[in-house]
Amino acid sequence: MTSIMTHPDHSTIEQTRETLRALRWVLSGHAMSGLQEWHRASRSPVFAAEPVGTDTRSEDPAQGLMLAREELGDCRRCRLHTSRTQIVFGDGSAAARLVFVGEAPGFEEDRQGRPFVGRAGQLLNKTLAQIHLKREDVYIANVIKHRPPENRDPLPEELSACRPYLLQQIQIIEPKIIVTLGRFSMMLFLPDAKISRDHGRPRWVVWQGKKVLVVPLFHPAAALRNPAVMRDFNTDMLKLPDIIAALNTNLLPTDEVITPPVAQETTPSEDQLTLL
Ligand code: SF4
Repeated sequence: MTSIMTHPDHSTIEQTRETLRALRWVLSGHAMSGLQEWHRASRSPVFAAEPVGTDTRSEDPAQGLMLAREELGDCRRCRLHTSRTQIVFGDGSAAARLVFVGEAPGFEEDRQGRPFVGRAGQLLNKTLAQIHLKREDVYIANVIKHRPPENRDPLPEELSACRPYLLQQIQIIEPKIIVTLGRFSMMLFLPDAKISRDHGRPRWVVWQGKKVLVVPLFHPAAALRNPAVMRDFNTDMLKLPDIIAALNTNLLPTDEVITPPVAQETTPSEDQLTLL
């Protein structure tokens, strides 16, 4: 007797995977618009490596990040996938309390598949060492996971397409402090900020019902190009131990600034300088 059961072909499986990724992306977008509980409820089946009901994110953020990377797959949600070598997802400790968020991979990052490994990354490593931190102690990611051609600024539609992945990483790690590097990542969390005015000034952001301290810094690539920015970058980095200590001892004012949940578009204004 001939069996009528057939295995789905490769293209059907790929289509199903793509549909699930698209659905996940839509749900992430709703979560950032304030439908947090729905989003949280929707995560369990997506993230569950164990039977439904086990939240693998909070119990094992490393596994959560691994699953998030798998879910990202060979993303083609924006045009940047056409010029990439590889996705640059993130690097560092999934248990980090301090997360650095940059803009987008550059040439060296695209080649190696890790964020901040070029000259800007060397500067970041050096200043981290000055405050007795190693890359392995923190987590480092970018708003955009693929290198824009010729290192151009990301376009608004690319930022919107890729933003859910970063926010998913942050949701998994649940850091206490987010240090933004450059204006694109700053404006994701502090849409009313100006980098020239607000760099080095920590502010509270409420996101998904939790407060996280956001410290906007200049991008190290901008510091490499401008001695004045380099001075500010170093000064701000050297403030981080005091900020961490103040946070640990509850000495930071909590009523100064509470910004709205991350939901705004992140297009920087025209009058701000590239990469600052
Ligand atoms: S930049 Fe982000 S949204 Fe665009 S293709 Fe790459 S991973 Fe996907």
